[in-house]
Amino acid sequence: MMKPLLASLVLLTASASAQVPESGRWQELRFSADEVDASMQERYIDRTVDLAAAGKLDRDRALLARLRYISAELIRAAFELKPEVARWQWEVHTTSDADVDAICMAGGKILVGSAFVHQLALTDGELATLLAHEVAHVVAEHPRETLSEAMLLNRLPAVPLEVVMARLDSDLSLQIRLSRLSSLQESEADQLGMVLAHRAGWAADDMISFYRKLGEGEQAALVSSAYPASESRLSMARGMARLFND
Ligand SMILES: [Zn+2]
Repeated sequence: MMKPLLASLVLLTASASAQVPESGRWQELRFSADEVDASMQERYIDRTVDLAAAGKLDRDRALLARLRYISAELIRAAFELKPEVARWQWEVHTTSDADVDAICMAGGKILVGSAFVHQLALTDGELATLLAHEVAHVVAEHPRETLSEAMLLNRLPAVPLEVVMARLDSDLSLQIRLSRLSSLQESEADQLGMVLAHRAGWAADDMISFYRKLGEGEQAALVSSAYPASESRLSMARGMARLFND
């Protein structure tokens, strides 16, 4: 009987306050970064193994090479804001799975859909803006924050991370209650991403043209409810560009 009680105590004391780089917003984080990273890594391995078995992993070698070169520069820029990123085991893969646009899991696990990149005919600078948005999510610890918030919304004092992850996947009402946080995180990732892309040496014009293409392409996944309207993303990009030029 002692073991579950001890486990809950450990979870309860794992709570910590953190600050998002650049925006300075305070977050309440319940699970340890190591625990979240380990779980996400497991999911990433499962996903990439399944894609490889289906013949849908890294078929586009040219895109993979572009992504590796671009992400290395972005990771260097991220390191300046959050030194922990140097400890992460970054991985980059592409998939021909048409359902994937771009994701970066906690701990630096990137997956980019080749169909999405080719459909928008993204140049290197535009691709860097897409990647920078994804890298910004993990630099700002958004996945860990979402899991922490999901646990709080469930009004359970302490449940294992795996249980919260499963609930997040299946519980639609929980996803709806998290939508305000999701919108906030999307705006934050747009802005922090542009800072990363700028520091990695990409031109603001490339970033603006990425957001213009997104709006024109009406990409279903990337303009889902959690994302700000494409027009406001484009005006955000123009506003950030003015800051870079000052
Ligand atoms: Zn996003």
